[in-house]
Amino acid sequence: MNFVFLGPPGSGKGTQAARLSEELTIAHLSTGDLLRAAVNEKTELGGQAESFMSRGELVPDELIIGMIEEKLSQGGLDGGFILDGFPRTIPQARSLREMLDRHSTSLDLVILLQVSDATVIKRLTRRAEIEGRTDDTEAVILNRLEVYRQQTKPIEDFYRQESILTEIVGEDTPDRVYEAIRKVAIRTMNA
Ligand code: AMP
Repeated sequence: MNFVFLGPPGSGKGTQAARLSEELTIAHLSTGDLLRAAVNEKTELGGQAESFMSRGELVPDELIIGMIEEKLSQGGLDGGFILDGFPRTIPQARSLREMLDRHSTSLDLVILLQVSDATVIKRLTRRAEIEGRTDDTEAVILNRLEVYRQQTKPIEDFYRQESILTEIVGEDTPDRVYEAIRKVAIRTMNA
């Protein structure tokens, strides 16, 4: 089974994707985590990505698509995967479809976590205090929300048209949101 988690920053994608990947024992691929690791390890990719990330802008499509292509070609995703934070633009969504086609596979389910702007700001401000992520300051949070609206939101319709998008309200407690996710994931697996 191949899943994508979609939703604004702070919608709970990372937490929920990690939990589902553990329960289903499939790979969890977070482009944000991969990029933060690249920045910490001072790789070439990290150096190219850093300034975009600290401003809350998207890292250029070619860099991200190359990173995912590499993961797919290493074969580590053959048993199924959850993509978290990718795709984030229409060109990324199109490239993903082509890459999966080439590997004779496709997406089974896109889970869209819906949360209000007020919740996003509250959660990310709290995360800034706990984790100290440099892109969780108020100005950068507002920019990331705007970037989501302008560049990522259009892919909701892209997947709606393919009839693989399911919307889940992400305002509730993590446990309750997970139960809702689990139900649709299992329903899709049994279909
Ligand atoms: P995240 O942890 O998913 O919120 O990602 C943190 C930051 O990494 C984002 O604000 C972007 O700068 C960058 N990033 C992560 N995934 C992508 C992607 N698919 N396309 C472009 N930039 C990304």
